[in-house]
Amino acid sequence: MTTISLLIGGERRAAAGGATFVRRNPLDGSVATTAPAATPEDARAAVDAAAAAFPAWSALGPNARRALLIKAAHALEAKGEAFAAAVASETGGSGLWAGFNVHLAAGMLLEAAALTTQISGEVIPSDVPGSVAMAMRQPAGVVLGMAPWNAPIILGVRALAVPLACGNTVVLKGSELCPATHGLIVEALVDAGLPAGVVNFVTNAPADAAAVVEAMIAHPAVRRVNFTGSTRVGRIIAEMCARHLKPSVLELGGKAPLVVLDDADLDAAVNGAAFGAFANSGQICMSTERIIVDASVADEFAARLAAKASALPLGDPRKGPVVLGSVVDMSTVQRCNALIDDALAKGARLLCGGKADSTLMPATLLDHVTPDMAIYREESFGPVKPIVRVQGVEAAVACANDNAYGLSAAVFGRDAARALAVAQRIQSGICHVNGPTVHDEAQMPFGGVKDSGWGRFGGKAGIDAFTELRWVTLQTGTRHYPF
Ligand code: NAD
Repeated sequence: MTTISLLIGGERRAAAGGATFVRRNPLDGSVATTAPAATPEDARAAVDAAAAAFPAWSALGPNARRALLIKAAHALEAKGEAFAAAVASETGGSGLWAGFNVHLAAGMLLEAAALTTQISGEVIPSDVPGSVAMAMRQPAGVVLGMAPWNAPIILGVRALAVPLACGNTVVLKGSELCPATHGLIVEALVDAGLPAGVVNFVTNAPADAAAVVEAMIAHPAVRRVNFTGSTRVGRIIAEMCARHLKPSVLELGGKAPLVVLDDADLDAAVNGAAFGAFANSGQICMSTERIIVDASVADEFAARLAAKASALPLGDPRKGPVVLGSVVDMSTVQRCNALIDDALAKGARLLCGGKADSTLMPATLLDHVTPDMAIYREESFGPVKPIVRVQGVEAAVACANDNAYGLSAAVFGRDAARALAVAQRIQSGICHVNGPTVHDEAQMPFGGVKDSGWGRFGGKAGIDAFTELRWVTLQTGTRHYPF
């Protein structure tokens, strides 16, 4: 069992009053972590500490910030085993998933380090004689980052890497479901030597989330908010941000379509669909949530995908390598079981897997899914995925867009121009031709449209999100006034 602390202004602290909450292992219910249950006062203190650290951090030269972020990337990699243990015990994720998380998260810190010298502006011609007019990007202030449990290291690091690179200071609000995993990220940044207060860490009991989050969003020093999580909570955060006029980046749920056209390389499509649907047991925002297949190739595709999916190793990730570990909790099992019952009652066919009675859920495919079934439109966020059969390209595009979400998507087809034309018509922030829906790289503009949120993390798009663009002029000659 792990016990963790808050980090406020460089000090490890208990919550005011000493309250704690526990996170239990999803498989056996043993206590995985005891974490501080921060109060709104603790949360405000974390923002105060970040605000106090802002002047020095924002004035630091880009190469000094870069050096610290590079050290942080290596410090994170050095904690690979600790991360794997924390992920297995808090969320049931496999070693494969934890390792991929550490690898990509370290890459995000390196990419952020590289961005420190790329925060550029422009000189804009002014109509005022002698006026040199500049558009300058400056650090915004304190950034509040909130990350979920499902890709815990990637999303925890994403919440703070580019904000720090831009010269902002940060408060990271950890997930109630993986406080120790998120705490290890903060430890890596401390190990790297980031000055006290540049990164602060708050954990809260689930019942206190709304009060703790609003205390921080309302704090005048917080100038940017980023939130990765469900669309339900994203709407609440957006409303709070609107009330306090705080710009936000919202990375919310998804229901990614993977379209298999009639000319697709079926092996490539099967491999892409299996990876996208079942990596981390389908608990990824970019998970393939709708497999839309041209009817002319559907029988062959479905048979091959079912054979591959039913052979994926499933088990307790603490006991050895698996592809499917434990899902995060029994509510995921109940939600997925209900989606299976509903689809089968309305005429879907079960190709592999099926209902589960523990958090060890098998890879499950439902074929002949139709719009009246809940799984056609609702995010399963588990290893239960539908196949929808369509006739032709127009029906495939219409089906792909027949959803409230719009994060990731994929199209498989040998005629690359036709597949790209389909990709351009899909309403999503991200779309891959002949590649899986699950694909993330630190330097890419990452984000969604519609109910998947707004704003972009990643690369230069991240600089836009976490800096203030200012218009500054220098009058070099005599200025003429009308009076
Ligand atoms: P969640 O929205 O249930 O919880 C996220 C956080 O919201 C919690 O840690 C909690 O502290 C906070 N919260 C809960 N109620 C609140 C309230 N009333 N006010 C303020 N804050 C509150 O999400 P989750 O279950 O942790 O994550 C899963 C979801 O995240 C899925 O829908 C998934 O698709 C999405 N996701 C999106 C991306 C992306 O990049 N778009 C990435 C990963 C996950």
